[in-house]
Amino acid sequence: MTEHTAPKHTPDLPTLSAYLDGELDHHAEQRVAAHLAACPLCAARFAELQALSAGFKALPMASLGFDLAGVIEGRLAAAPRSAAARPERRWFSQWPLAIGAAASIAAGVFMGSALVAGRAAEVPRMAALRVFDIMPPGSLCIGLESCYRKESTQ
Ligand SMILES: [Zn+2]
Repeated sequence: MTEHTAPKHTPDLPTLSAYLDGELDHHAEQRVAAHLAACPLCAARFAELQALSAGFKALPMASLGFDLAGVIEGRLAAAPRSAAARPERRWFSQWPLAIGAAASIAAGVFMGSALVAGRAAEVPRMAALRVFDIMPPGSLCIGLESCYRKESTQ
């Protein structure tokens, strides 16, 4: 498989587009112009860009024929304001929020103090880990075969 590898050209497509739009500084513009004069591949790409740009400029400009923003603003000004959109806030409407915030703070203080209390937080953890032991708490076997000594019958 032979792959034709084109040589790395200095002006890439964005640079060519900027050159076409006249957005390059003087030195970059001179470099691109010199490269385009010497490189037929880039000159062909630049000619395609020029044709594309000319095609876009030839497209007809679409216009509404009226001021859409003025129509929208007029409708917004004429629309009646509903009372449901802006409910009045009374002092007792804030109570659920205040009660919820107080309960949240109290729960946080309670759980934080339980963690700091020392053994109170550690005892349930140790009991929970016992679940994974072979021998249950109190060394009472619950019926696992490994709990019983097997006597060989041979
Ligand atoms: Zn080139």
